[in-house]
Amino acid sequence: MPQPILYYSTNRNAPKVTFGEALLKGLAPDRGLYMPDHIPVIDQSTLSNLQGKSYPEVAFVIARNMLQGEIAVDVLEKLVKDAYNFEVPLERVYHRNYIMRLDRGPTASFKDFAARMMGRLMQHFLKQQNRKMLILTATSGDTGSAIANAFYGLDNINVVILYPENEVTPRQRKQMTTLRHNISIIALNGKFDDCQALVKQAFNDPELDYLGLSSANSINIGRLIPQSFYYFYAWSQLAKPGEEMIFAIPSGNFGNMMGGLLARKMGLPVRKFIIATNENDEVPVYWKTGDYKAIVPSRSCISSAMNVGHPSNIARVVALYGGIMDENGNITQQPDVEQMHRDIYAVSVTDKHTTEIMRDVYNRHQVTLEPHGAAGWAGLMNFFNRFPDEDKAESLAVCLETAHPAKFPDEIRTHLDVDPALPPALEGLDNREEFFEKLDNNYAHFKAWLTGKF
Ligand SMILES: *Cc1c(COP(=O)(O)O)cnc(C)c1O
Repeated sequence: MPQPILYYSTNRNAPKVTFGEALLKGLAPDRGLYMPDHIPVIDQSTLSNLQGKSYPEVAFVIARNMLQGEIAVDVLEKLVKDAYNFEVPLERVYHRNYIMRLDRGPTASFKDFAARMMGRLMQHFLKQQNRKMLILTATSGDTGSAIANAFYGLDNINVVILYPENEVTPRQRKQMTTLRHNISIIALNGKFDDCQALVKQAFNDPELDYLGLSSANSINIGRLIPQSFYYFYAWSQLAKPGEEMIFAIPSGNFGNMMGGLLARKMGLPVRKFIIATNENDEVPVYWKTGDYKAIVPSRSCISSAMNVGHPSNIARVVALYGGIMDENGNITQQPDVEQMHRDIYAVSVTDKHTTEIMRDVYNRHQVTLEPHGAAGWAGLMNFFNRFPDEDKAESLAVCLETAHPAKFPDEIRTHLDVDPALPPALEGLDNREEFFEKLDNNYAHFKAWLTGKF
């Protein structure tokens, strides 16, 4: 097998590891995030051969490129086919501007793409090493349900998920709390950032080492690599040979965008990434001023999965452009800011503008977007307004829709006056019994709960 890629920590103070190790560790021992020390470029003929291929076919080629030497090719191919057994619609809005619907997986969120692949990869490496682990994850809604669903029923893995009590929709909650078996759910009296802080503290607590903790958050490199596949897929279905395209990405923790940046490093022809945040605008402000400052506490917006005041993956973006940012957001080595700005356009979208865009796209083009996708579309429109030459009939742009509109029925009803049809994945949830623990935002209590249970 070829030499595997090694992964370094963004804090540059931990040994390099293989993908298998980075996947099972989650966070590096120096609290940094793992990043590939090089990214193999996919050659032109392999790239052109992707055109018109199915999703699992495209995903396999990209996965093989990143995981060479780590896992047998036939095992990987089977794993990819098994993970991606649902459709990925590309819907034209106007000109060659599209919506890619990443909402047809088992929990109707784009996080299924990463979670299903990561669960299967972890299972593979754990079985190989005859090990067990406890996955500990903070969620603002969609990660939790995707992780719970992807890991449900696996033998070597227990899962604990913390969510902010008042920040997830009832439907998101039920997708987590109705499973049981190896899945435990905690409703925290706090915000998403508090959940994330407790998880981080547990990871750094030597007294919890015996649990074999690992993270399935977007800090895990095992989630980022699968998030590069759908960028290649969109290109393979829509682009002319060699054509560059634009992607618009509704962003919170910036894992989705990191997948896109990895895809570009692998040779995908991308002219611009447009990242749209909600009113948590620390990254667009950083783009504008060069000063990065976390927003504490994070602001509550209708695109709730994007209510992140200090996105962990921003350290990876900085690393990809040659800089160093620690876990607290301090930049100790400047990245190539000019290149960052050439590649990525950052914009913050208010709630008011998000709902205006939901209505506008629906009335004008009969396309239904929920608040996250609408923020992404608003970002694209903002880019076109600023650079009108970019909005040409012949150029190609894709906005990622990250959740199914039926997951946000109140917003859709209020602003579009329609009742979004439920995808099969979400049917029947309302009648199931829920099981969860309530905890206050206190590390000692959380730790006592963990050690009592496992
Ligand atoms: C998680 C999530 C996002 C944000 O993705 P990041 O990778 O954290 O930037 C956007 N929309 C939805 C629906 C999500 O669940």
